[in-house]
Amino acid sequence: MSTVIEVEHLHKRYGKTVAVDDVSFTVGQGEIFGILGRNGAGKTTTVECLAGLRTPDGGTIRVLGRDPLRDHAEVTRRVGVQLQDGQLQDRLRVGEAMWLYASFYPDPADPAELLDRLGLTGRERTPYAKLSGGQKQRLSIALALVGRPRIAVLDELTTGLDPHARRDTWDLIEAVRAGGVTIVLVTHFMPEAERLCDRIALIDDGRVVHTGTPAELLARAGESTLEDAYVTLTRRTA
Ligand code: ATP
Repeated sequence: MSTVIEVEHLHKRYGKTVAVDDVSFTVGQGEIFGILGRNGAGKTTTVECLAGLRTPDGGTIRVLGRDPLRDHAEVTRRVGVQLQDGQLQDRLRVGEAMWLYASFYPDPADPAELLDRLGLTGRERTPYAKLSGGQKQRLSIALALVGRPRIAVLDELTTGLDPHARRDTWDLIEAVRAGGVTIVLVTHFMPEAERLCDRIALIDDGRVVHTGTPAELLARAGESTLEDAYVTLTRRTA
């Protein structure tokens, strides 16, 4: 399996706050790689650095062999990003947003088909401001995938989705991965990590405390559920 993402000794601070403190990991082609950790652990900052949306203070990042900052245009063409708070303009309609994003890429997916997979058919003329929270979330997933990315970075993929929409989204992500796409998934939802992730990095206080398959995490923590393993491995002793 070839390596498509390499993060080495990543550091990022905001003023006095150290958000990412020496994070290293690699992701292989076609993997679903989960990033788990408590609120404020540095997950979003890490994936924003991967996507070239933030400038690290130290370390190196290679995405498909490229530097996300220096080779920004090339990385952006190949990496689809669904970020938290990925707000669009209120008056932009669902269909307009999809066609606009599709036009940025040389070989986009069919917007109508993606909207259908995400349960948004019939919403093409709805302005962004009039979508429900879950519909906004589903649109952000569609926008992350419309460019047929080689890597999709999904930050809190199914937060706010109802159980049907969540399961449909999981099926979609598995189908996307079956097509060879690598997925980086930030999640707080343990059933999601259990169902989707091949490997997981647990991040705490800006540091990777464990990387491994879900089974390796369970074994290391001596627990039988991922949630218990997560809590055990990120428990603070102070
Ligand atoms: P969550 O699970 O709550 O989304 P996270 O693991 O994604 O959290 P980050 O958003 O990366 O965490 O934040 C890491 C740290 O950096 C936190 O202490 C946060 O307050 C701080 N931080 C994040 N973004 C900024 C910013 N733009 N300016 C200042 N501090 C920031």
